[in-house]
Amino acid sequence: MKRETILLHNGNEIDEQTGALSIPIYNTSTFHQKDFEKAQEWEYTRSGNPTRQALENTLAAIENGTHGFAFASGMAAISSAILALFRPGDHIIATKDIYGGAWRFFSKFINEFGVEITFADFTDISAVEKLIKPNTKAVYIESPTNPLLRIVDIEQTAALAKKHKLISLIDNTFMTPYLMRPLDLGIDVSIHSATKFLGGHSDLIAGAVITKSEELARKIKFTQNALGTILGPNDSWLLMRGIKTLGARMDVEGKSALAIAEWLTKQPWVSEVFYPGLPGHPGHETVKRQARGFGSVLSFKTDSFETARTILKNTKIWAIAVSLGGVDSIMSYPVTMSHASIPEDIRNELGITNTLIRLSVGLEHPDDLISDIKQAAEKAL
Ligand SMILES: *Cc1c(COP(=O)(O)O)cnc(C)c1O
Repeated sequence: MKRETILLHNGNEIDEQTGALSIPIYNTSTFHQKDFEKAQEWEYTRSGNPTRQALENTLAAIENGTHGFAFASGMAAISSAILALFRPGDHIIATKDIYGGAWRFFSKFINEFGVEITFADFTDISAVEKLIKPNTKAVYIESPTNPLLRIVDIEQTAALAKKHKLISLIDNTFMTPYLMRPLDLGIDVSIHSATKFLGGHSDLIAGAVITKSEELARKIKFTQNALGTILGPNDSWLLMRGIKTLGARMDVEGKSALAIAEWLTKQPWVSEVFYPGLPGHPGHETVKRQARGFGSVLSFKTDSFETARTILKNTKIWAIAVSLGGVDSIMSYPVTMSHASIPEDIRNELGITNTLIRLSVGLEHPDDLISDIKQAAEKAL
């Protein structure tokens, strides 16, 4: 089956009891046990709930995994996966320009429990290999990275992990399982902030973890129940609803993102555009090989802080907000928003400067989105 169809038909979309074309929301904490001496499928919602189960099966199906897990947020998914799979003394090598919240979890939390972290530039895989030590247990990557949209070669990273018997994890939030399936490329664990494209409507906070390893799945399931970082039944239903339109949204938003990126490259007040869909992007050929689209997040640098400020102050259609992946277009300013928790010197080293603006392109007509940026930028001239 094609990916568009799997989003809608994966064996988890129809209620077995009634035939309803929408899985009921089982708003219950506990389940009556027919025989108190026997375990049964549903006992307590932290351990398992039919609405969440339908979602988790859907997540596994759309990413071509065997086990899916739904969490209370993207950070709950990331932290639970790390806590499930690693122990004090273990060493993890992670992408340098990683999501701010993941950076905080790695460098201000899990490190205090004795899990060692090294950040590395995964576009140079031989440099990453040199960082592997006897206690290295994992590589953790993002592609494209946030907010500068650098592309990591997934197959190359997975091969390096296999060679050294490391667990490979990816945060696949930006690409989504519709555009890229990391497990098919050899990655062990795929993680999402489902708050973004999977939910797709900026109306929910959720996270997901998918794997096709029995052993890793067993550890993740144990940890999800032990920590209680589960997604509730109402949000599970809302997320299932969002997933149904993922393909259509990614197609339209990706097309608009490319149009906006191309337009931005021609503006005199733009100094640099970061979008893997542009032929000049250093990761363009790699992303074409490993994904079937470029996504709908892009960023650009203006000629001065003043221009960036004027655009952010004067747009009318674009929401000025953190987050991305919703049907409404969002403009964000990484320095004070998503990457505020990263110290300034590290930010500057990563290229996250005060002239950088990030866009998440939604479903509005691209002409309107372009005119809105244009009128805002012209106020600076
Ligand atoms: C938003 C985001 C997260 C964190 O997800 P939450 O749902 O906000 O907890 C993790 N990774 C990436 C790439 C994100 O964009």
